[in-house]
Amino acid sequence: MAFDALIGSESLRERLATDVREGKLSHAYIIEGAHGSGKRTLARELCAALACTDRKSGRIPCGSCLACRKVAEGKCPDIIRIERGNKAGIGVDDVRFLRADVLIEPNDLDSKIYIIEGADTMTVQAQNALLLTLEEPPSYVMFLLLCENATALLETIRSRAPKLSLCPVPTDDIRTHLTKTERAFASLPEAEREEVLMIANGSIGRAKELLDAKERKPLLSRRTLAAAFVEQQLTKRDSASAIELQGSLGNKREEIGTLLADILCALRDLTLLKRTESAPLCFYTDRERALALCDRVSMQSVLHLYESVESCRKQLLRNANVRLALTTLFLMNR
Ligand SMILES: [Zn+2]
Repeated sequence: MAFDALIGSESLRERLATDVREGKLSHAYIIEGAHGSGKRTLARELCAALACTDRKSGRIPCGSCLACRKVAEGKCPDIIRIERGNKAGIGVDDVRFLRADVLIEPNDLDSKIYIIEGADTMTVQAQNALLLTLEEPPSYVMFLLLCENATALLETIRSRAPKLSLCPVPTDDIRTHLTKTERAFASLPEAEREEVLMIANGSIGRAKELLDAKERKPLLSRRTLAAAFVEQQLTKRDSASAIELQGSLGNKREEIGTLLADILCALRDLTLLKRTESAPLCFYTDRERALALCDRVSMQSVLHLYESVESCRKQLLRNANVRLALTTLFLMNR
C-alpha cells in the first residue's frame, strides 16, 4: 500500500512509508543503484509522496489526486532536475544555480525537491558547494542524489544524506510485473521472455529496454552463438564445424570480447551444474538443456575450455590480433 511503483524492495518501502506517515523524512537522500534499478522511479514516488494531498486512501502516494498526477506527468514546477547533460560531470556552476534557487519558496507544493541525477559525477568543488546548502537547507527543501556509486561522494555529504539502496529485483517479481504491465513482454514467446529476464539480471529498467526488438535481437543472436560455441567445442570438435563456427564469430574486437564474456558465463554455469543440479544460473535459461550437455562432458574439459577462452579474452584486451587470437583459441582446444 506504499510506493507501489517500486517493485521488490519491501523493507525500503516500509521504512519510507513509516517516515512519511510520521513526518520523519530526511531533507536529503542518496539513492544508489545500478543502471535500470529504479532510482528515478523511487525519486518520483518520493516526490509524489511529499506532494500527495490525499491522506485518506491509505496509499502512499495515492497516485490519483491532482498533485500525484502532476508529479507523474513531470508538470510540477517545484521539482527541479539537475543533470550533467553533455558534460563529463556536474560542475560548480550547476550547484551555484541551485544554491540561489533554494532561497525562492515553492509556489505549487509545500516543498521544493531537487533531483540531482548522476550525483557521483559532481566535481569535488561542486560537492563542497552543495555541502553548504545541505548543512542548513530551508525547511521546505529536499535533495535526492541519484548515483550508481555513493562512495564517489564526499564523506561529509554521505553523513548528511541517508542512503537508500536499490538491490536487484528477484526475476520472478520482474516476470510478474512485466506480464501485468507490458503487452510487448506478454506477447513474446516464452523462451524469449526468459532470455530477456536473464539478460536484465535483476534490473526492471534494463528488461523494459529489451522489449524493443532492435535492442533485444543482437543480444539474443550473440547468446545463441555463445551457446553454439560451447556445445561445438565441448562435444564435436571436428575441423569442419570449427571452421564454420570461427567464420560466424566475425572479427570485431569489441563484439568478440562481449561474446567471450557470454561464453565464460555459460561455462561457469556448467561447472556449477556439475556440482549441483539446482545451482543458480547466469547464462542458460533452459536448465534441462544445460544439464543434458553437462552429462555429455567432463569437468576437466569444461575447465580447460574456460581457461582457453579466458586467455583469448585477455589477449584481445591487450590488443592482440583478433584473427590470430581466435585461431589460437580453436587450436588450443582441439
Ligand atoms: Zn495523491
